Amino acid sequence: MMRIGIGYDLHRLVEGRPLVLGGVAVEHWKGLDGHSDADVLTHAVIDALLGAAALGNIGQLFPDTDPRFKDADSLGLLEEAARLVREAGYALANVDANVIAQEPVLGPYLDAMRERLARCLRIETAQVSVKAKTNERVGPEGRGEAISAQAVVLLERQ
Ligand SMILES: [Zn+2]
Repeated sequence: MMRIGIGYDLHRLVEGRPLVLGGVAVEHWKGLDGHSDADVLTHAVIDALLGAAALGNIGQLFPDTDPRFKDADSLGLLEEAARLVREAGYALANVDANVIAQEPVLGPYLDAMRERLARCLRIETAQVSVKAKTNERVGPEGRGEAISAQAVVLLERQ
């Protein structure tokens, strides 16, 4: 039996924060605001994973009111979500994700993001796709006010 899940996230871009996407530090003069490291791509993948297994969402599992998750490394949260999904009896077939950011240019970082995510999910890099899009300078992403991400995940029952 196969199950799919969808994830979406958006964080505001602010000065004085590091920019971390898919666990990779990206050079930029602004970073994403949030309680954890605000890794919008990893958060979208976590929600897609949890959604596919009907295990709730990232806010229920890792509440931002919990001091344990302040400035948390989102890859650690991803590992935990993947563990729960395996425990529920599923194997991960593949992940596909979009990151929507007007700036900076993300192309040079995409393979590193795929490798980081795949390692945390305990799958091959070839099973993880990350694509970058600008927003044609319109909307919050296009004006550089935010970065958003979308992800889909396919699970197979073991
Ligand atoms: Zn988030």
